[in-house]
Amino acid sequence: MKVLELSHRAVSQDSIEAKKCFACGGPATSGIGEHIIPKWLQNECRLFDERLTLLNGTQIPYRNLTVPCCVGCNTGFLSKLESSVQPIFHRGAVLSGEDRLALARWLSKILIGVLVKETGLMFDRSQPGHGSIVDPGFIEELRHCHFVLQSARKPTSFNCLHGEFPFSFYCYNISDYRNGHEFDLSTNVAGQSIAVRVGPLGAIFINDGGFQMHVGAKGPFELSGAELSEIQFREIAARVHYKAALRDATHFYLTVENEEKIQIEQLHVTSFSGYLPGSDELRIFRDWNEAELSYAMSTYMRVERSKIFDEETQTCRTSLLLPRPFDD
Ligand SMILES: [Zn+2]
Repeated sequence: MKVLELSHRAVSQDSIEAKKCFACGGPATSGIGEHIIPKWLQNECRLFDERLTLLNGTQIPYRNLTVPCCVGCNTGFLSKLESSVQPIFHRGAVLSGEDRLALARWLSKILIGVLVKETGLMFDRSQPGHGSIVDPGFIEELRHCHFVLQSARKPTSFNCLHGEFPFSFYCYNISDYRNGHEFDLSTNVAGQSIAVRVGPLGAIFINDGGFQMHVGAKGPFELSGAELSEIQFREIAARVHYKAALRDATHFYLTVENEEKIQIEQLHVTSFSGYLPGSDELRIFRDWNEAELSYAMSTYMRVERSKIFDEETQTCRTSLLLPRPFDD
């Protein structure tokens, strides 16, 4: 089986439009499809009536939040993927690179699910106002996200420019979450980032080839690995999502696959807007703007913007400056 061919087939406008399996592009099995938020998690965190709000304002309960999938993928590698992350969440700690990769694959699956759901809505003919052409750049980025997901099917070696893996990943320990608040999810479709907390473990994945980790190995305020409160985790997520939306560059990849393994190589960086003015350095992120950040923080933290943004200094207040112990 040539995994990359399957993923290439899955990540095309035609496949998404025709509601093919999101993971292999083959015919989707009739039935409900793959739950974007898996059932074990819905059960453990009692999420059946929780909803995800899509870009067009539609709210979908997690129990109905599915993407087209074939029975082979659903009961095969995707099922194994679910089993691989459950012990990590139950333990509440990320102990190794293998754990990180397992979580990243799982988060990339949820992110791809959300992106496919959003993209599928754009093709919904009952809502013609939404248009029907998806930016080719978006499809290309989705393909990069699939590299991470598909590495669950076949041994994959990554050779990356900024670190071990072609993505950015941060994790946190949230010890004092409230009863009934076992789960937290936020995504940024434009920036292709996702933050999930299950009980005491919060994890953030950005499908950016590793750019955020390149400029900040431990993320906002260098807190990756630290112990945070619920609201602090939300603030970190807001800052990461905002930064992800500022990304102005992408990677060019070379992929090789044989029967035994896949090799993914990041060859070089391409900037969408080119070089920084008066410099030979590529622009990777657009300029950070505290006023813009305040809107992201207000949305993701569910706090009024006036409480976050200090008009006088034009800066955002932060909940992250109290010293916290580090894990590593
Ligand atoms: Zn499939």
